[in-house]
Amino acid sequence: MSAGTALGASTARLRLSRYDVVVERGDKVWVHNGLSGRIVAVAADEWREVGLFLAGESSRASTEILRELTVGRMIVADDLDELEVLERRYRAGTADRSSFGLTIVTSLGCNFDCPYCFQVKPSEVLDAETERLLLEVLDEQLPTIRQFEVTWYGGEPLLGKDRIYRLSEAFLERCDAGHIAYSASIVTNGYLLTRETAERLRACRVGSAQITLDGPPESHDLMRPLKNGRPTFDAILDNVVESASVLPIAIRVNLDASNSGEHERLLDLLVDRGLSGRVTVYPGRIVAYDEGIGAPSESYRPTCYTLPEFAGVERDFLAQARARGLASTTLPQPISTPCTAVRVNELVVGARGELYKCWDSVGNHHEVVGHLRSWKDPNDRALKWLHYDPFTDEGCRSCIALPGCMGGCAHHQMIDPGDSKCSTYRLTYRQQVEEYVAAAEAAGSGAGPRHPLLPIVTVNT
Ligand code: SF4
Ligand code: SF4
Repeated sequence: MSAGTALGASTARLRLSRYDVVVERGDKVWVHNGLSGRIVAVAADEWREVGLFLAGESSRASTEILRELTVGRMIVADDLDELEVLERRYRAGTADRSSFGLTIVTSLGCNFDCPYCFQVKPSEVLDAETERLLLEVLDEQLPTIRQFEVTWYGGEPLLGKDRIYRLSEAFLERCDAGHIAYSASIVTNGYLLTRETAERLRACRVGSAQITLDGPPESHDLMRPLKNGRPTFDAILDNVVESASVLPIAIRVNLDASNSGEHERLLDLLVDRGLSGRVTVYPGRIVAYDEGIGAPSESYRPTCYTLPEFAGVERDFLAQARARGLASTTLPQPISTPCTAVRVNELVVGARGELYKCWDSVGNHHEVVGHLRSWKDPNDRALKWLHYDPFTDEGCRSCIALPGCMGGCAHHQMIDPGDSKCSTYRLTYRQQVEEYVAAAEAAGSGAGPRHPLLPIVTVNT
């Protein structure tokens, strides 16, 4: 059936979405849409017919193709304000009270002394009063929420692992009784994540762990030493090997000019230890800043990458990781909000019950927004996070990355206005979609990646 007869004159005018990325390869055209997160492949000659249809000319574009492209939001009504759609998504996400989120610092103290660390870290472990208050706050939330999400955080959270076990038990009891969906994850340096600990965490329904390895031993041990200066690489890698079958592990590799070019050796070491296909690895950009609190990061600035530099390094890193079965081929998925800091019903709880909005603020007394005792009544410092608004930023409003980024890192925008808040998709979106398409084609021929791809709609008529 052709659109000329099926959808022609009576159909409202349609156009391509502003969030489409179109990649032509051989006799196919791939169209990715950031707002839906979907990707559609059509024959090149069909795509030409779609173009004629959108131009209001006589066209043989099939109804099936037009339907797929419309469902995937690649084609939208001419008068649709896509920014308004995103803005409504953002406002609903920031104001959502059906979900409750806590980031809990079980130990602000840390066993490491990383030179780029943005925290000052006195040896504080979550105290008994804060444990009690956490349960009180959850009890107040239970009647109105459908889900409860916890991130165990530090300093080094496993220095307070007994608190994780105790609180998890109490959280699970309450959520299971109230039929509330519970999920948890942990951000840890990995040094204390033995297999036994991983098993305890899994029993606590911790669903994933993020661990950091900053290169092969020579560079990692310089960037992430113990407090006494001793190395940590071997212990962490042993733990990852032992725990990877217990707990999904994502390895973050922080990159800057000081460990540039060394990640390939790290990736080879991971393969040698049998971690191919068992962990995922991704690069992180070190952003150092000075908030006048005496954190190590305050003197670390000179070696950090700019966003464009990092965007290039990231592509190279991921290509090498994918080739070794250590990374998946993904594209940014649409989100409603960028992070916990801008969501009204989420809190970051320090070891003494003090509250923050942003992970980066933990331990910074200038950024305390209140206390668990009076959690419903934060001070004015909370407002700068809750009022963060990418829809007042002309750069975000015109940015193709907006659906998957939603304004990026509010903290980075506050301390260093410009592009430090940004997703690299803004700079490398075409390359990212092309890489994705190449992986999808390879998967179709049986030579693809081991990790699942987005569902791809291939329309053949
Ligand atoms: S970056 Fe993390 S592991 Fe390193 S010193 Fe800071 S809190 Fe500890
Ligand atoms: S990439 Fe940068 S400009 Fe684009 S939406 Fe994200 S924060 Fe805004």
